[in-house]
Amino acid sequence: MVVTHKGCLECGKLWNDRKPGREFCCSSCRLTFNNRRMKRGAELYDLFRAMRRERDQAKLLGLWSEMCRLELQYQIEDEAQRPGRRSYMPPKKALANLFDKGSLPRGDVLTTNAAGLRRR
Ligand SMILES: [Zn+2]
Repeated sequence: MVVTHKGCLECGKLWNDRKPGREFCCSSCRLTFNNRRMKRGAELYDLFRAMRRERDQAKLLGLWSEMCRLELQYQIEDEAQRPGRRSYMPPKKALANLFDKGSLPRGDVLTTNAAGLRRR
């Protein structure tokens, strides 16, 4: 059965093929989309880690606000360059991807601080 896709997430092009669930019309669009994700991820990584590990300094410098401003800038760029197309992963899918890769920590890691002490 030939399926008409909703439109490539990167270029918006509609295409027909036999594979349902594909998000990109070609490998070039998939690479462009994923390269942008990696670049942005690297930008947010350092800010997020600094915010988690040196909270007082991060708060003083307004890191969270800067992260939010950066994300807004991404959204504005995406709307200008790729209007109407999703440019982020929905929350359930983002968590499922990490779960599937085995990247999500198990147990009580999130309730333990850097020194390994449990919070109350
Ligand atoms: Zn495309």
